[in-house]
Amino acid sequence: MNAAELMEFRLLLLAWFAQHKRELPWRADADAYRVWVSEIMLQQTRVAAVIPYYERFLERFPSIAALAGAPEEEVLRFWSGLGYYSRARNLQRAAQEIVAQHGGIFPSSAEDVLALPGIGAYTAAAICSIAFGQKMAVLDGNVARVIARLFAVRGDLRAGDRWRGLQERADWLLDGHAPGDWNQAMMELGATICTPRAPQCLLCPAGQFCAARKQGSQEEIPEKRVKRATEPVTLAAAVFLDARGKTLLLPPPARGAEELTAAHVPTLVSRMWHFPTMAVKKNVERELTKYLEALRPGLRAHAGERWSQCMQRCSLVRHAVTYRAITVHPYCVRIAKLPSFPGAKKVALDNLSSVPISNLTRKIAQAALAERAAGTAEKRSVRRKPAAPKIAAFW
Ligand code: SF4
Repeated sequence: MNAAELMEFRLLLLAWFAQHKRELPWRADADAYRVWVSEIMLQQTRVAAVIPYYERFLERFPSIAALAGAPEEEVLRFWSGLGYYSRARNLQRAAQEIVAQHGGIFPSSAEDVLALPGIGAYTAAAICSIAFGQKMAVLDGNVARVIARLFAVRGDLRAGDRWRGLQERADWLLDGHAPGDWNQAMMELGATICTPRAPQCLLCPAGQFCAARKQGSQEEIPEKRVKRATEPVTLAAAVFLDARGKTLLLPPPARGAEELTAAHVPTLVSRMWHFPTMAVKKNVERELTKYLEALRPGLRAHAGERWSQCMQRCSLVRHAVTYRAITVHPYCVRIAKLPSFPGAKKVALDNLSSVPISNLTRKIAQAALAERAAGTAEKRSVRRKPAAPKIAAFW
């Protein structure tokens, strides 16, 4: 692409963006705080999934000061379900630093922005260009794919030198008169037209400049990365339930009970409030029973009953986190009185929304609720037909 073509490309792409950009809530206003929250939420998460979280989050934490001053648990609760919770913790830590060091005003210097927790080169460029009009080109997966195709760059795009080369090209392409719009246009092109599979070259404003399209190699670029092999993980979770329908949740390790979580709970589930959970190998029920006995020596579900008599298996829960394929065996554990642990919470199983939990914990709760509903229905049907053989209803 020569200088004249570059000028034309910029005009065409910006005109296309002005006409076709999606209406997204964070585009309503270029305030740095709003741009920042949206960029952090959009990391590893689809736009459609982010929108309701973004709106609820901004309503509850409308300013940097509101976010900085909120209890961490409240911030996590509004993030609950989005995953990658270190993002929320870093967001709040950064808000607290902005209050302490910049008087609550989002800094506009790239150096200060990059010094904030959880903000890397991409996020800093997005915020500084969109909110402050700074000439900083973004490079994320979408933009890298577009540039790789425009210049027919082969090989693993994430490899060190190649990624640096893509950043240099992104810097060269950047429209210095409208860097915020330019960056958003490049990202939008990658998200909606120059997609990983079946790019819509006929609709693309960059079509005439695209080397991959001229070669017919657009579907071969970027080359597929060798995926890390999936690692299966098998867990068992104890959903305690007392007669009032209350259950027990253990806290994230940072809030106490490290001795419980460190010994038994894989870090996969322990970063948020979670059911007592352990990794299991073969005999799930026996291993879970041992775990319950070790959790609190002398603890009994009901006087005279063995744990196995109080445990009811629920439907399996499957969940994927990056390269891990997690299978959870949830068990409802009927118990006379919920045990007490330092920092643990006793909450109604059907109302966990007051506590920040992960999607995995939510799925386990749903499996337990389904089991409880099935058990209740079974019990009712037994009552209506006293002549039928007795069914060992759990509830
Ligand atoms: S012409 Fe096709 S491959 Fe090239 S940038 Fe546009 S959509 Fe992507």
